[in-house]
Amino acid sequence: MTKENDTELKKKDKEVLNSICEECHNNDESVYQNLILYGFKICKVCKTSKTIFPI
Ligand SMILES: [Zn+2]
Repeated sequence: MTKENDTELKKKDKEVLNSICEECHNNDESVYQNLILYGFKICKVCKTSKTIFPI
């Protein structure tokens, strides 16, 4: 039970949570990328269908 492992686990949990689209609730790696790029937890499918982001 080290602090290092605990931090690593929480980071992983956070990444998984940040991979779930708030629109369709699918788990997709594009959600995390869009969160970093645009600040929205949205997958590439919902992003395209909504077209609320300028390319
Ligand atoms: Zn979605």
